[in-house]
Amino acid sequence: MERVTMGRVFKCPVCGAEVMVVGAASEELDPHCCNTPMLPKPRVHEVYHCTHCGAEVAVVSGSAEHLDPYCCNDRMRRIA
Ligand SMILES: [Zn+2]
Ligand SMILES: [Zn+2]
Repeated sequence: MERVTMGRVFKCPVCGAEVMVVGAASEELDPHCCNTPMLPKPRVHEVYHCTHCGAEVAVVSGSAEHLDPYCCNDRMRRIA
């Protein structure tokens, strides 16, 4: 089974609810909604991490093409 990584988005085909993986997960993660397995979306949200304070940010809409997040006077590292 494909490994579930941070930033992966699952959508419920019944009610349309969407969830995003925000913590490192194992392949055991299998989110359900409305008694139905949620489907992984093709889009994976970009996640950035600050190596100094541990802050993490994720892009939730729009494009990360021109994104260049800084924290603690340093460039945040892309981790997903
Ligand atoms: Zn649902
Ligand atoms: Zn920071």
